[in-house]
Amino acid sequence: GKKEEVDINALADEYLRLSYHGLRAKDKTFNATMETDFATDLHRIAVVPQDLGRVLLNLFNNAFYAVSEKKKRTSGDYTPVVRVTTRNTQGTDGDAAIEITVHDNGLGIPQAIVDKIYQPFFTTKPTGEGTGLGLSMSYDIVHKMHGGEMVVDTVEGQYATFIITIPA
Ligand code: ADP
Ligand code: MG
Repeated sequence: GKKEEVDINALADEYLRLSYHGLRAKDKTFNATMETDFATDLHRIAVVPQDLGRVLLNLFNNAFYAVSEKKKRTSGDYTPVVRVTTRNTQGTDGDAAIEITVHDNGLGIPQAIVDKIYQPFFTTKPTGEGTGLGLSMSYDIVHKMHGGEMVVDTVEGQYATFIITIPA
């Protein structure tokens, strides 16, 4: 794929809906609150749209999976939330960059496995539910193809927030 200047907010919005409706098609009872907070003055950046789309789709699928599993395991009040934000920021070199965050209040990731999630074929999902390739592919697309960074902030049982930074 070739790099193009695309509207990252529109791309994120499109894949968020795609992911949500994909899950709803398999499970009609599934519901989640989707929140977006998109910067209106986001820097224009050149990305390979299909590839960044695959990254976002995987992060959204993971987030919806994490909240839907938490709902199954939680008795009482629980409102699943998946929140996506974009903003202008600076990369580690101080140059202009954009930040995309994907947050969910689902299962969270245990500290014991957080270093393994980017390894190819690492998955905690049952056979048929996950290949364990999503995050390793995403990491390569962000780091190698776009010179960006991808980190996770998480508390087991509470939330996971994936933060992507891509230089402008
Ligand atoms: P897969 O989704 O096929 O399992 P990924 O590479 O996308 O593979 O993710 C690897 C593992 O990282 C998941 O199986 C899960 O244990 C963990 N993980 C990823 N995203 C989340 C999240 N949002 N919440 C909780 N755990 C997550
Ligand atoms: Mg995945």
